[in-house]
Amino acid sequence: MKSRLLTRQLQEVFGGDGEPQFRQLVEAARAAQQTELVQGLEKLLGQVDSAYGAYVGLNNWQGMLSGDALADWNLRSGTIESGRHWKEMLGYGSDELDNTIAHWQRLVHPEDLRALLARMAAQAQSKEHYFQAECRLKARDGQWRWFLLRGAVAACDADGEPLRLLLLQRDISEVKAVEAALISAKEAAEAANKARGAFLANMSHEIRTPMNGIIGMTELALDTELDAEQRHYLKTVKSSAEALLTIVNDILDFSKIEAGKVRFESIPFLIHDALLESIRVLAVSAHKKSLELIADIRPEVPQRVVGDPTRLRQVIINLVGNAIKFTERGEVALEVVVDQQTDGSVFLRFSIRDTGIGIPPEKQQAIFEAFSQADVSTTRRFGGTGLGLAISARLVQLMDGRIWLESAPGVGSVFHFTIRFGTDSEIRPRPVPDARFRGRRALVIEDNATAGQGLVEMLERLGVQTALVADGGAAEAAIERTRAVDFSYDYIFVDAKMDAPAGFALAEGWRNGARGERLVVMLTTENQRQDLARLREIGVSAHLVKPIGADDLADALGLAEGGDVGGLSLAPFDLDVQQPDSGRNLRILLVEDNPVNQELAVRLLERSSHHVVVANNGAEAVELFDSGQFDVILMGMQMPVMGGIEATEAIRSREMRRSWVVSSEFRQVYIIAMTANVMASDRERCLEAGMNDYLAKPLRPEQLCAALARSCEASGGGQLLDADLSPLPAGGAARSEGGAAQHWRCRTFRDDGQHAARGVGRSPQSAKSGAGRG
Ligand code: ADP
Repeated sequence: MKSRLLTRQLQEVFGGDGEPQFRQLVEAARAAQQTELVQGLEKLLGQVDSAYGAYVGLNNWQGMLSGDALADWNLRSGTIESGRHWKEMLGYGSDELDNTIAHWQRLVHPEDLRALLARMAAQAQSKEHYFQAECRLKARDGQWRWFLLRGAVAACDADGEPLRLLLLQRDISEVKAVEAALISAKEAAEAANKARGAFLANMSHEIRTPMNGIIGMTELALDTELDAEQRHYLKTVKSSAEALLTIVNDILDFSKIEAGKVRFESIPFLIHDALLESIRVLAVSAHKKSLELIADIRPEVPQRVVGDPTRLRQVIINLVGNAIKFTERGEVALEVVVDQQTDGSVFLRFSIRDTGIGIPPEKQQAIFEAFSQADVSTTRRFGGTGLGLAISARLVQLMDGRIWLESAPGVGSVFHFTIRFGTDSEIRPRPVPDARFRGRRALVIEDNATAGQGLVEMLERLGVQTALVADGGAAEAAIERTRAVDFSYDYIFVDAKMDAPAGFALAEGWRNGARGERLVVMLTTENQRQDLARLREIGVSAHLVKPIGADDLADALGLAEGGDVGGLSLAPFDLDVQQPDSGRNLRILLVEDNPVNQELAVRLLERSSHHVVVANNGAEAVELFDSGQFDVILMGMQMPVMGGIEATEAIRSREMRRSWVVSSEFRQVYIIAMTANVMASDRERCLEAGMNDYLAKPLRPEQLCAALARSCEASGGGQLLDADLSPLPAGGAARSEGGAAQHWRCRTFRDDGQHAARGVGRSPQSAKSGAGRG
């Protein structure tokens, strides 16, 4: 007999050395002629012996193959009867250590032993198939090694007490080490992230408060008498402070997103208007670099969607701002298409293309990470925090979209992103295409192919047959050709920036030569005021400011038609409506960047015999306010250079200064906000900035006149007429607080009596949105 297992079992059952005692009994049986019994016993013994041999062999193989060591514990004798592999795992030779359970247990880490024994006992009692536990065992070299133990009771005695236990033992020290390293790395990262987030949020907040003070006080200082050098220094202080504030706002925004504290609105809004307003904010910086800025919102994009216009605007301003920043010549174009439409929602795809420096392939992934820039050396050249794309990417993700890019160094980049919007069930169907211009003919003189093509497509959607030429010579030839065949264009669109004989030269020629075509001049925001004065001088009334939206185009055509402003797109300004008279001729400063809206509002107001001065943006408004006297300011909200909120704050701060130095007769100008945003928070922002009243766009003549009448009542200089004064969104609040002046005073002082510096600076939000990124 070879098997040690069998030898031990025979010793247990027959006493002594086991086998001799067994053999004696067998011989006795043989002598008593129990042949069959003897043969059966010997056969059985042989089989058990070979089964045990196979079992031991299998154990060794299995240990080698799976990394597990199998051991057979005899619970009654307290010995480990087979399997020596566990010793090797701990660095011992097979002859070292006693093969006893007690010895094995002495190797177990004291902290693990109690739990391990409890597990084993529980398994024996519960009759579960097996138990599993992890514990440390001391190796020969004195190190603790981790083991995974899986075991099962293999035999019990007649009373159900466990007799044998089979135990699988696996060395998991390496897994444990990796796991521990991962856990501590994760904990360290989480702790660092948390600390960083908290630090950034606190720091941003702490920096913003004094920054507002610096900007506000610099503005006040700029408003005093200064020589040119002092003015230059202070202007530099102000622009640097504003740049710093933008960075701080980025950081605050980013840490808010990281901390999961960003809330999204879900409101219906006019997406075409929101996009054009966003992109117009950046037109000034694009036009300053002589870049063409183009917006192509495909007609299938719904007019109204449900989502968060502020967050959309933030992403657009960041990406378009970057495109402008990293492009020296050429164009920046925004294209919006429907990517996918499902029940109740629509995915829109926004693509921002530029002809700028491009991004090398190996940097294209990294730039979406926080504080990451494609080329560290560009940091000095272009500025920026490297946070804009990280913020945009996360915002897009949170709006169920994705962001990606295509780019080639030296050629340009296209950033694409998608966002899911809800579709507004209350949306009225899109108005049928404007039929007023069907069958008309137009010539577009535009040297930028993308802008020219875009305009051609918009005109053709209105049913206008359009030809495109890229220079003045070709334009003259085209017009000449039409003469020869007795054909004429109804409209000629010309880009004011083009060289003679196109551009302004062509408009000048208009005065001299009598031609039947109606001219529409396309301006950029640069020198817009001077250009408009020049056009007025020449006698050209119709103009458009780039980037051009489809609605603006239809309105401009209506105006070019000689002032017939009826029709769909001009419905808000239906001049035939019987207007209530405000009772006084007011001096009104109209602050509006959209030329078509400007023109219509001027006509409407002049019809009521008010005197109107136009400012194209907030900065011009502040300048005109300084040099003129106005009863009312009609203030647009989102405008290039400076928005309505900042302009109002600047005007109120100037008034505050004046009110300190002039007599008590000082009267504040009545400011009425005009905005397409209809959120309650917008109204609140208007009031907080110091506005007195609020008009929602599109403006209704009767509501405009009612607001003017309220301004007369507030100033005490006019009579309140029997006009329809409802709805009275913000003015009501102002009046109920006892008049406009008092309303503003209440808001310039905090409850604690401390001077609120924000009243004289740009609000953090508006600083970011007004300046854009770029
Ligand atoms: P910032 O502009 O503040 O540096 P962003 O996260 O917006 O931060 O952009 C990260 C980097 O990506 C930029 O520094 C620039 O290297 C690269 N980048 C972004 N947009 C463009 C683009 N339109 N053309 C070229 N490079 C770009």
